[in-house]
Amino acid sequence: MKVLENKRIVKLSTSTANKIAAGEVVDRPVSVVKELIENSIDAGADSIIVEIEQGGKSYIRITDNGSGILYEDVENAFERHATSKIREAEDLQYINTLGFRGEALASIAAVSRVEIITKTKNNKAGIKLKIAGGTVIEKKETGCPDGTTIIVSELFYNVPARLKFLKQDAAEANLIIDFISKISLAYSNIKFRLINNGKILFSTSGDGNVYKNIVSIYKQEIAHDLIHISEETEIYKLDAYISTPSNTRPSKKHQIFFVNGRYIKSAVLDRSFNNSYHELIPDGRYPVGFIFLQIVPDRIDVNIHPNKREIKFREEKDAEDFIVRVFKAGLRSSVSIPTIKTKRLFKENENVKSETTEQVNINKLLETKQDVSHDIIKEYPVSFKAQETVNIEKQSEIIFSAIEESVEKIEKPFYIMDLNILGTIFSTYILASDAECFYLIDQHAAHERVLYEQLLDALNNEDVITQRLLTPMVIQLSYSEAHNTEMNIELIRGLGYEIEAFGNNAFIIKAIPYMMDFGEGRALLEDVIESLTDEQIFSDKNKIEKIIGRACKKAVKANDHLDEKEIKHLLELLSQMKNPFSCPHGRPVFVKLTKYDVERMFKRV
Ligand code: ADP
Ligand code: MG
Repeated sequence: MKVLENKRIVKLSTSTANKIAAGEVVDRPVSVVKELIENSIDAGADSIIVEIEQGGKSYIRITDNGSGILYEDVENAFERHATSKIREAEDLQYINTLGFRGEALASIAAVSRVEIITKTKNNKAGIKLKIAGGTVIEKKETGCPDGTTIIVSELFYNVPARLKFLKQDAAEANLIIDFISKISLAYSNIKFRLINNGKILFSTSGDGNVYKNIVSIYKQEIAHDLIHISEETEIYKLDAYISTPSNTRPSKKHQIFFVNGRYIKSAVLDRSFNNSYHELIPDGRYPVGFIFLQIVPDRIDVNIHPNKREIKFREEKDAEDFIVRVFKAGLRSSVSIPTIKTKRLFKENENVKSETTEQVNINKLLETKQDVSHDIIKEYPVSFKAQETVNIEKQSEIIFSAIEESVEKIEKPFYIMDLNILGTIFSTYILASDAECFYLIDQHAAHERVLYEQLLDALNNEDVITQRLLTPMVIQLSYSEAHNTEMNIELIRGLGYEIEAFGNNAFIIKAIPYMMDFGEGRALLEDVIESLTDEQIFSDKNKIEKIIGRACKKAVKANDHLDEKEIKHLLELLSQMKNPFSCPHGRPVFVKLTKYDVERMFKRV
């Protein structure tokens, strides 16, 4: 480390002070992009084009059609603590802009080369200003459209220490893409376009249609099979596009929350959303969700620090209950039944597009991206018209209308008992239909679900109904199993077993839960015992659910032939379940084929 020889105190030069201060606002390309886009939004723009190169390290350009900056003010905009958004501290109370600290432009200009071209509506000519490392090096009039273009090049060229900490281009680009994806969803009335290394990554319509934006920004893989849920109370308004249980992902990456129009992170929302899928999806899979919550402002504390994206609900439990209730109601309906994927049986030569072509289209659009001529884009004056590539818009439109149909609306209630039972196949699947759909019902998954809910019910009930065995059974356990059984004997009794120690690690069972036959009763008990550890788990709901879920699976035998009466009985039980659509492990109980799908296969529609 370099040690200064003389320890005199000196005032830092403005440029050094600015460089240091800049670090707080601008630490990587995405923070530049964020600040500039927020300025464009504050300036009332309804069209914002972002172009980046090399992850934003070498080049960032943001063009908007907002208010523009007055000739007299341009230089001031780059001064520290220079803002048009507040005048005095009291104004902070009423702030309705994204920025107000007046630091962003000064910070960015201190650590890069900046060029700004801006024009207000009332001025004939625009102005172009060049700044390097905080110093103005050129200022002149120029012809340009209304609005502002800011180009930031060679970020951190004069702060090598910061440059070293940047990630690879692709990683920096990803952060920017992610940020713009989210902000363009939050501001669906603004048309966003993102260009990366000369290629358009996506472009949103700006017509306020959120679902259309989801389709434009995210791959069809993510945007298809979403359910639209909306609900409004006096305090909350929830509008969400969430995945059906059959469309899950390996991570939570596509769970995006907006509160009162802002992209935020919130443990409460995360928990409420994911808990709504409890038992509907397998462990280790996560639903997709684009969730927009409006809440009366005095119910939340927003941390207005510009880089923090966290909010706090004043009444967390209330918010959580509301969200879980709405999502659960939406998910535990027939929209949760996965549709059997179909293709037309015959090759087409008509103009009707099949589903597969639509998929190819969007993939092509998103993966190979559209080439736009670099030079045109970089040329001045910038005009929105010149940059329109009609093609990409048209393409998005086609894709959108193709997928729009696939957003399921929650329709009329679905009554299992109204199904028309047609028989079984492979001794495992029940066939059934109603006016709109044909269903396959996995007999074992159904049975598992019924057993599971009945057992959990039994546990929650004081007086459990049991069935006495004519001949009691004795089970012999290992020393540790016997110990664990002793520890958790109340749990086993709660399920409906009459069980007592019988000496020498043996137990005698005189009664089993009423809904099982002897074989199931024994298999379940053995499995429960095997899963027990030497801690008492009577009050650990999660653990108990896991153990019982696993045990049910084993207890339900494969290839059990059911006769008509048994099928009826099983469906009747299933219809009384809280969640009849999946087994306790998140596998589906039903799959369906709509009448429309069948007709498509036979080329009738
Ligand atoms: P803040 O946004 O906190 O006011 P900034 O440093 O980001 O501070 O911007 C300084 C000022 O420059 C803003 O208050 C605004 O008046 C002006 N400005 C910045 N960007 C734009 C833009 N794209 N369009 C119009 N005015 C802008
Ligand atoms: Mg700002």
